[in-house]
Amino acid sequence: MPQLAGRVGRAKPSTIMVIAQKARQLKAAGRDIISLSVGVPNFLPGDHVYAAARDALDHDSGQYGNNRGSEALQDAFLGHIEALGFSGYQRANVSMGIGAKQILYNLAEALLDEGDEIAFAAPYWTTYRDISDIIGARIHPLPCGPQQNYKLAPEQLGAALARKPKVFLFNNPSNPTGMVYTRDEIAALADVLVKYPDTWIVTDDIYAAMIFDGVGYHNFVHLRPELRDRLIFVDSLSKTYGMPGWRVGLLAGPESVAKAVTTLNSSHITSLPEVVSAAAVAALAGPQDVTRAKCREFAERRDVVYAALSAIPGVVCPRPQGAFYAFPDISVAFGKRHGDVQITDDVGFCATLLDAKGVACVPGSAFGEPRSMRISYTCPAAQLQPALQRITEFFAELA
Ligand code: PLP
Repeated sequence: MPQLAGRVGRAKPSTIMVIAQKARQLKAAGRDIISLSVGVPNFLPGDHVYAAARDALDHDSGQYGNNRGSEALQDAFLGHIEALGFSGYQRANVSMGIGAKQILYNLAEALLDEGDEIAFAAPYWTTYRDISDIIGARIHPLPCGPQQNYKLAPEQLGAALARKPKVFLFNNPSNPTGMVYTRDEIAALADVLVKYPDTWIVTDDIYAAMIFDGVGYHNFVHLRPELRDRLIFVDSLSKTYGMPGWRVGLLAGPESVAKAVTTLNSSHITSLPEVVSAAAVAALAGPQDVTRAKCREFAERRDVVYAALSAIPGVVCPRPQGAFYAFPDISVAFGKRHGDVQITDDVGFCATLLDAKGVACVPGSAFGEPRSMRISYTCPAAQLQPALQRITEFFAELA
């Protein structure tokens, strides 16, 4: 019998699936389930995006496209990043992929050989670990618990970079915590980064349009332009424009890296589809009012979620300032019982909460922080208060 490649064995199914599967079963059995588990924005893009896609269909060339992305999309992205404070980038500095996930995968292939080290803060987006495992990179997670607001400290970064990892991967705003680094915090980390020239820096900033409280979006290159020749900025249309299913991810960085990813595209995907590219241009270059309105709405929801979680005795929830997640420390529940069920850890907590109250959240261990759980608050508005109420009741019932 032939064997699968070794790398497939290193790719483990995520703990998220345990809860997702259970939620599906309960729903199929007729239970009233509210899902706070999926990281999707739950809104649709503006009409101009659909109009551009329809127009592209009417003029479809039926051809393969450019490995780097259509020139119109490259230019729209350059305009978009200029507005984010990245100036002086040219077409040769950008490339595209089927979502930021594929960009990150391509970057891992382009930057990491088997056995190379990649460092990133924990909690982390699950896929960082999965991709690194498949590539065969050595992961160096940097623990950033709730006591430090889930944020990486400059000393931690310095200690990690002293080991000369090949790649440092940074995510701001963060999935799963919703944390956003201030300008001063980014500046302090950038001051450390400049001291370690042997490490590539990948900033996954796909939630940059969803930042609250006037904190503003800041990137290391804004503070330390000399980092530009080894920093890769990763973006996506998924969360910013309510377009996760359109699968558009983008990067800007050194020419050598953009070229490497473009070359990998020629083996992996060839190009983005023409209709998708036209919609992406309209999203990036067109009116931004849907995105701005959604950002305001998410900030209001954050207030509601944060107030409810903070009112639960023993639960510690660092205040999120971006994306659409909250990541409370729920470890006060460990060792307690709900009815007949003994709760020992985050996975047991989320499974019991789902069983007892019909609310699906993701155990923190999926993100490398087993004291916490992730709440994604983009569910239909009418479900949010009932979900929070049920979580509050659940904690009150623990003995
Ligand atoms: N990076 C982070 C931090 C994410 O949360 C996600 C999606 O959830 C992605 C990248 C991937 O986004 P895309 O839909 O563009 O593949």
